[in-house]
Amino acid sequence: MSYQVLARKWRPRTFRELVGQGHVLQTLINALDNQRLHHAYLFTGTRGVGKTTIARILARCLNCETGITSTPCGECSACREINDGRFIDLIEVDAASRTKVEDTRELLENVQYAPSRGRFKVYLIDEVHMLSNHSFNALLKTLEEPPPHVKFLLATTDPQKLPVTVLSRCLQFSLKNLSPERLVEHLKHILGEEKIAYEEAALWQLGRAAQGSVRDCLTLLDQAIGFCNGTLTAAAVSEFLGNIDQAVISHLMESLIAQDAAATLAVVRKVADSSPDFALVLQALLSWLHRVAIAQVVPEAIDNSQGDRDLVLAHAAALTPENVQLYYQIALKGREDQPLAIDARSGLEMTLLRMLAFTPQLQPRPQSTASASDLAAAGQKKKRLVDEEPVVVAAPPADKPGVVEPTPAPRVAMPAPVPAATTPSPVAELPVAPPAPLPAISGKPLALSELTADTWLQVFLQLGLSGVTRSIAGHCALANVVGSKLTLILDTRHGALFNDEHRRRMEAAMVDYFGEALTVSIELGTPPAETPSARRLRLEDERKLAAVHEFTHDPAVQALVQRFGAEIDYDSITPLGQEPR
Ligand SMILES: [Zn+2]
Repeated sequence: MSYQVLARKWRPRTFRELVGQGHVLQTLINALDNQRLHHAYLFTGTRGVGKTTIARILARCLNCETGITSTPCGECSACREINDGRFIDLIEVDAASRTKVEDTRELLENVQYAPSRGRFKVYLIDEVHMLSNHSFNALLKTLEEPPPHVKFLLATTDPQKLPVTVLSRCLQFSLKNLSPERLVEHLKHILGEEKIAYEEAALWQLGRAAQGSVRDCLTLLDQAIGFCNGTLTAAAVSEFLGNIDQAVISHLMESLIAQDAAATLAVVRKVADSSPDFALVLQALLSWLHRVAIAQVVPEAIDNSQGDRDLVLAHAAALTPENVQLYYQIALKGREDQPLAIDARSGLEMTLLRMLAFTPQLQPRPQSTASASDLAAAGQKKKRLVDEEPVVVAAPPADKPGVVEPTPAPRVAMPAPVPAATTPSPVAELPVAPPAPLPAISGKPLALSELTADTWLQVFLQLGLSGVTRSIAGHCALANVVGSKLTLILDTRHGALFNDEHRRRMEAAMVDYFGEALTVSIELGTPPAETPSARRLRLEDERKLAAVHEFTHDPAVQALVQRFGAEIDYDSITPLGQEPR
């Protein structure tokens, strides 16, 4: 059985088989059905979007023996000969190879004679912008007074280069690039018919790589089929296209979400083992972050590009929008700096470590908690302050070793005219709220019999979990302990990344901790008690509230407020230290 390349085998023979370009096709179909024909058509668009394919179908529509039609029969000799490229009245020219005026004259020599076989003599001139000026002039004469039996079908990727005199005599159709979605749909159809197995993520890679061209897409598909030897897998197609395997990027994202530097560097090490194009990794990470950012504002806009929609949505839920923006900015800057780094790998590592170092907080805040409403009350109080007195200064956050606060920058709002006299330096000498005491954590391991919903909060901190497993465990509350069987409820909102591997790791850590055999089962749901993560956020909020309270009641601050009418930037007040995670 001879193998026919897919691009040729699947070249459309009718308008209905054509992929995309519905706007152009509808106009042509209406014109044909109403017999309102123009004598010159110009098809523009980038390579491989169907310009000459549409022109050839149009040639059949014009010459089909059943009559001028938008649905040529495909059976008559005209249809078949056009299909095989041997119809005497279809004169196809590649202008790129025949640019000289002599060529054009020769081409148009016989234009006055009636067609030998068909209804119309059809001149299909591809890449028409390549003609010389003299050639255009020769062509223009014919276009001005075309014999009724002649049709010109011109195609070009570069209509800007055509003389206006030629443009104005053509009916112009601009063909659009095809979206990856449209191309993937087409690929699925073809692979289904060809009975070739595939992973959807592989098709998305091909659909994107084709950059809007159906022809390129099918050529890539042909090559990928040869490369993959059977099933089109995402990993093989990544390798074939020289892309970064998206699994690498999703692992990087998970290590960033888990604030796990060791895991982050491990992913980079793995990249170094396989396809060490570190610049591409950063590019792919940028594109992933872009999708996550979109998912946070318009989740339904996320297509299943590369088969990763669920992961992108999970990452969107696990990060704050501020963090996503921050990571994006750092990645952009990292890309700019990469050529300056000692080598591309260290450039990538530094960029990722910078993301970890600058992350202000781990998880998005719950939508409503008691402490959040306390903060809202603090906002009310601020408003009252503003009403009562012309307020208020800002304090920079105190030194927090190891934690950098990129946003928001502390602001000092000084009112315009300061009444002469003493102008103390307001910011540097401000006292800062003393740290709230950290909750005591006993280092002594508990016995399994002591495990309750409350003590789980303490046990969690001592399990030594890391990465995503730790993040997942942090969103669990203890439901019950029956004998040696523990049941935890994982907050559904944080369940997207959960799989049995995490459960096994938690179980192993607990066996280790309690020193006895036990099983852990995890169910998704609404946690019946406070989870370690919710507790940490609550304590942080409470400490922040306490710090705000201390700060605003500090006599020095109140003096500044009263004397200079400065305003406190509440967001910039940061308690010292951190809740244990
Ligand atoms: Zn026909």
